[in-house]
Formats: sequence, structure tokens, C-alpha cells
Amino acid sequence: MPLDRARKVALEEEFCSLCNQQYHYRTDCQQLILITERWFFWCNSERGRYLTERAGQDADYAARLVEYEREQAKNRQRNEELRHRYDTAVEDENYKSRNCRHCPNCHRVVERMEGCESMICGQDYHGGNIQSGCGEEFTWDEAEQYQAATVRKSTETINDLPRPESPLITHENITCDGCHEIVRGIRFDCVHCPSLIFCEKCEQRYTLAHSNENRNAGQQQHVFRLIMTPFDEIQ
Ligand SMILES: [Zn+2]
Ligand SMILES: [Zn+2]
Ligand SMILES: [Zn+2]
Ligand SMILES: [Zn+2]
Repeated sequence: MPLDRARKVALEEEFCSLCNQQYHYRTDCQQLILITERWFFWCNSERGRYLTERAGQDADYAARLVEYEREQAKNRQRNEELRHRYDTAVEDENYKSRNCRHCPNCHRVVERMEGCESMICGQDYHGGNIQSGCGEEFTWDEAEQYQAATVRKSTETINDLPRPESPLITHENITCDGCHEIVRGIRFDCVHCPSLIFCEKCEQRYTLAHSNENRNAGQQQHVFRLIMTPFDEIQ
């Protein structure tokens, strides 16, 4: 397991030195694609269904559902951008499993150079000048295979949402950055921001605003991780 990652700043974006993707927080590189898939699935089809189910029981959710209907155009635009981000991540994953291995010393992803058996960590994964590495020299054969995440078809994405009749789970000590209350229900964490958390009642409004900010800043869509059960914050 990678123990530490460096941040590199390039073109006003920060990159993870292990996977060469946009810098991410509180998750390892391998999990990222699954988190992206999960977030896309929520935005694309589950949010509406979940709000509809809860709306019958709670006026707050009924209001969110109205908002959901009203924001359809914005949601659709974001879904397209998220789909693009997800497809790109899948392509990148496939590329890496064909062309990359892990440096035996620092575990970074290193690309095989054209027809060459010897590798130097820090040279040449197709990220151009954002590449970083420890300089270790090794041969392709002795390097560990790139562990590609198992990517499911979108129809196979696990539907693990809490049932509408089940009570909302409380995430102790975790405060929503929207309503500033303790997070109850599904917790939404931005994996591309150092700290940005929303509760399920706030996420639509605030993540759409966040999407807008990132789009205006010329950045890709940030990805939110859905957290169903509370976990230990010390990682
Ligand atoms: Zn990474
Ligand atoms: Zn290395
Ligand atoms: Zn909230
Ligand atoms: Zn973010």
C-alpha cells in the first residue's frame, strides 16, 4: 500500500504523485474510480428515486424533490460532465493496466517505455511534465503489476442506499458545511477538496453550486464520496 503521496502543482491543478490524477483526499488511488462511478450513479439516477421515496414521509425531502425537478437542466449538464470524467478514468485505468507497473521502491505508477525492459521511476507515465518519481532503477519484470480497479457496467452498480423506512444514521462529530448541523443519513464528502462535507438534505443544492464554481474555474467536476455508515476519521 502506498504510504505517502506528494502533491505537485501544475497549471493551477494539483496532482497525486502516485496515480497522476487530480489530487484526492481521504481515499487511495485504487478506490477513486469506484467512488467516481458511485457518485455518477447517484447523480444520474438514484438521487431522484431516493428523494421521491423519502418525500412521502418528510416535508424537507418533498422540498428537495421540488428543487430536483426545478434543477433538471443543471443536473443533466453535470451528469454529462461526470460521465465524461468517469469514461476518461476508465480509459486511463485500462491504459495503465496495459502499460504501467508500480515502482518497487515508492509504489508510484510508472509507464513502460517503448520496447524497453529497464525502467526509471519518474520517467515517463503519460502525464508529461507532471511526472514525479524517486529515481529507482528497475526492470519491467521485477515490478509489481498495476492493480486495476474492477470496473462494473453501470447496470451492475450496487444499489446500497438506505431503505426509506429505515431511520437516518447519525455521523457523530461530522458537521455539514451547508446547514452546519451534525450529518444524518448519507454523508457526501468531496474527494477533491481538503474538507467539504454535506448531508443528504443539502448535497443537491451545494454540490451543484460546487460544480458551477469548478466549471467556471476551468476544472473538472469534483467527485463526492457517498458514505452510508459512520467510520473512524483517523486514517
Ligand atoms: Zn492518486
Ligand atoms: Zn519510485
Ligand atoms: Zn446539511
Ligand atoms: Zn471539491
